[in-house]
Amino acid sequence: MVTLANLHKFIEKGHKVTVIGPSLYHYYSGMGPGMLGKVYAPEDIRFATKHVVEKQGGSFILGKAVCVDPKEKKLILDSGETVLYDVLSFNVGSYVPETSIVDTARDVFTVKPIEKLIDAQARILELASRKKIVIGIIGGGPSAAEIAGNAWRLTQDYGTNQSRIIIFAGKDFMSRFPVDVKKKVSRSLKRRGIEIFESGYVEKIKTNEIILESGESYDTDVIFLAVGVKPSSIIKKSDLPIGADGGLLVNQYLQCSEYPEIFGGGDCIYFKNQPLDKVGVYAVRENPVLYRNLMASIEGEALQPFDPGGDYLLIFNMGDGTGVLCKRWLIFDGRLAFKIKDYIDRKFMNTFQQIEKT
Ligand SMILES: Cc1cc2nc3c(=O)[nH]c(=O)nc-3n(C[C@H](O)[C@H](O)[C@H](O)COP(=O)(O)OP(=O)(O)OC[C@H]3O[C@@H](n4cnc5c(N)ncnc54)[C@H](O)[C@@H]3O)c2cc1C
Repeated sequence: MVTLANLHKFIEKGHKVTVIGPSLYHYYSGMGPGMLGKVYAPEDIRFATKHVVEKQGGSFILGKAVCVDPKEKKLILDSGETVLYDVLSFNVGSYVPETSIVDTARDVFTVKPIEKLIDAQARILELASRKKIVIGIIGGGPSAAEIAGNAWRLTQDYGTNQSRIIIFAGKDFMSRFPVDVKKKVSRSLKRRGIEIFESGYVEKIKTNEIILESGESYDTDVIFLAVGVKPSSIIKKSDLPIGADGGLLVNQYLQCSEYPEIFGGGDCIYFKNQPLDKVGVYAVRENPVLYRNLMASIEGEALQPFDPGGDYLLIFNMGDGTGVLCKRWLIFDGRLAFKIKDYIDRKFMNTFQQIEKT
């Protein structure tokens, strides 16, 4: 985002910038579940990538990068087109693996890309206007919790029939978090009748059916997959150095040591010095360093090391106007927690959406 905001500075120095993305917009995931629950409209949570790139004199290609030929310094796109580069920035994020559990089923929505939540919302509203529906959410982490809470909000406010919402959380819901966080999140969801199953993992998903390893099966109308994310597969395909999770292996400068003209940030990298959680907080902290180092690399200046910083703040949007906040020993829930999240998220989006207007 910081690099996109400062794109004109590259152009002013006589460089050519090409941005490649599969959508005219970039959707901010921190507000994605809130968009599902209609707390936010799609336009509140997106950044007009093409518009911002072109108004600063850059080129935008609507498409997907498929792989890189790092020796030839060449990027190959899904259209077959190739783009040559001197410096490359990898910001392709992560994806939810559909794995073998999905049997070409219909009405299954991964929680990423965030755009899919728009389709999920439309489908839920269509079905919920006709009958009482069952929404199954597979996954036991914060995105499953936020999706459940906001799917509740959606059907509560806009569906004419009540829905049943079940989280299939494997064996331990919110297990990565302190017990108090788990308690507060579970309490918030259960209070509204959202069920949390912790008796075992899902083995198979079929259209309108979830089958557990135990053989138990559940009829569903809409399924969300929130089983965690993996770094984009482009890196593996490109024969670039990768870290333990398959992300682009980068040094303290967010740079690929083997190919020093390649940089990266966010969910698609593996930071060699200290593996980082796949949270937007790190992508945001990396932003200014990545921009600086891309510029320094082209201009032949010294690179700046990235310091991941200390503990980070997490706030979960529970979908009923409340949140659960957690930072180190500080844990609390309620309306104030959501208000803080809403303020931070809107401020972040406003900062970058301003560039669209100026
Ligand atoms: C439902 C949900 C809620 C979350 N909420 C929070 C939160 O509240 N706070 C927090 O800190 N973290 C949150 N996260 C984690 C957060 O989403 C990620 O850590 C963050 O988005 C990483 O940023 P990124 O720029 O690396 O990737 P992304 O935000 O995923 O962006 C990647 C971009 O690359 C584009 N792209 C993908 N593939 C290609 C390709 N082949 N070619 C070209 N372009 C491509 C995509 O279209 C997208 O625009 C949440 C995640 C989910 C799933």
